[in-house]
Amino acid sequence: MENRKYIFVMGGVMSGVGKGITTSSIGAILKARGYKVTALKIDPYVNVDAGTMNPTEHGEVFVLDDGDETDQDMGNYERFMDVQLSRENYMTTGRVYESVIHRERNLEYGGRCVQVVPHIPLEVIDRIVKASEKDKSEITMIEIGGTVGEYENILFLETIRLMKIKNPDDVLSVMVSYVPMPNKIGEMKTKPTQHAVRTVNGAGVQPDFIIARSEVPMDQKRKEKISMFCNVGEEYVISAPDVDNVYEVLLNFERDNLSELILKKLRLETRTSDLLQWKNLVEKIKMTEDSVTIGIVGKYFGTGDFVLSDAYLSVIEAIKHAGYQAGVKTKIDWINSELFEKEPEKLDSLSQYDGVLVPGGFGGRGIEGKIKAIQFCRENKIPFLGICYGMQLAVIEYARNVLGLADANTTEVNRETSSPVIDIMPEQKKNLEDGNYGATMRLGAYPAKLEEGTIAKSLYGQAEISERHRHRWEVSPQYLEKIETAGLVFSGKSPDGKLMEIIELPITQHPFFVASQFHPEFKSTPLKAHPLFFGFVSAAKKRSEKK
Ligand code: GLN
Repeated sequence: MENRKYIFVMGGVMSGVGKGITTSSIGAILKARGYKVTALKIDPYVNVDAGTMNPTEHGEVFVLDDGDETDQDMGNYERFMDVQLSRENYMTTGRVYESVIHRERNLEYGGRCVQVVPHIPLEVIDRIVKASEKDKSEITMIEIGGTVGEYENILFLETIRLMKIKNPDDVLSVMVSYVPMPNKIGEMKTKPTQHAVRTVNGAGVQPDFIIARSEVPMDQKRKEKISMFCNVGEEYVISAPDVDNVYEVLLNFERDNLSELILKKLRLETRTSDLLQWKNLVEKIKMTEDSVTIGIVGKYFGTGDFVLSDAYLSVIEAIKHAGYQAGVKTKIDWINSELFEKEPEKLDSLSQYDGVLVPGGFGGRGIEGKIKAIQFCRENKIPFLGICYGMQLAVIEYARNVLGLADANTTEVNRETSSPVIDIMPEQKKNLEDGNYGATMRLGAYPAKLEEGTIAKSLYGQAEISERHRHRWEVSPQYLEKIETAGLVFSGKSPDGKLMEIIELPITQHPFFVASQFHPEFKSTPLKAHPLFFGFVSAAKKRSEKK
């Protein structure tokens, strides 16, 4: 592993305080110093990938170019660090065990007893080193999911220890900890962080940096306390207060000299830092005053009594990116599509939105409500963007209400429909019949060709595109001609012309009615909004200006 450096990021006290954003932001500031950086995520669960998990439980499944179904943090790395990651950059406990067991069955351990320690951590190290070699990175960020003290991430902490003994100057670790300020007490409490550090010390690991997450900036006294009780110099305790938008995090880190301190510890030269693009972005966001309201009609929101929008994280981000580029703030409202099934009169409420988005989804629950919402947007000329299932449902809506095929449906929901306008492809049918669900959808990047004179073509400004997919069903070839004759335009198609990738209504009929079979949200970045989202938010802006 000569010349390659590794930075581990682990969590203390509790989850959900921004380990992913911290990892991404550190990656971004090191990149801004001219280093080649990549990132890996380790998820401690036994699932082999995130593809089979319920979105309300796990949050979004982020799909990579190579089709790997991963965690939403991978999306943050790609967006902040402007990199394209692949399956080598993602591992779960399930994936690690799967390959160790596979090797053992192939006699690759030469008859030795294969043990949890050291063979599992050694496999993890092997994967980390291989990923950083593949990406030719000088510095590799490795985020360990979960929180220290949980049984399930102990083997990954062991990985840090083993790597560090061998190459102390090449490996460092960062703990992202939470420092609460209970209302009744009125001051920041460092004790939970002290406990978290002690716990990880028990695993033989001493964090080099502590990123102290809190509501407000941390004062000197608290820094001294953490320094004293957690064995780190004061300057290595970095305050990370809540911010208005996540891109301020990396600017705050730099104010505390984080990248310089890291580079010194890793014995790398401190090159000059270029954060101009990020500074301009944060400035622009602060100055923006106009706003648009986008309604997202979906169903994966509920977790107990809380509304959780995690299932649509990249969609939310992509809307924001488009807002930055179009110069508007974007406010998002969550609308459970089942509402329109129970109370169709509520459809009128959609008129208040500047744009309506119907994201991806699976199964029958809530789809009639989504179809009604799409019809309302089409008939009332409300800017509409459909994604994946959102596109399939828009085709169904058109078939039902314009072509007059009242029974039109997807065979995902109704196998007996007399008008299967959305149908399953033969190879996918076999997967389902064989009960072969994991990682078998049409996944990852596929090329598409755009038709001249369409909205899609003018937004992308190029004739060929590559976008990420995650679906089994397609627009049925049998209905293409009929649908086209009735006025819906297929503006993007697979290069062989067989699979429909984008639909739209001509601009003369509707200000913006566009939907894609792929997921554009996975390729949007803060510094470069995705063309379809940009078109959508720009149309929403126009609508809001007319009001
Ligand atoms: N359920 C649909 C399919 O499998 C759409 C999937 C999605 O929206 N990601 O084709």
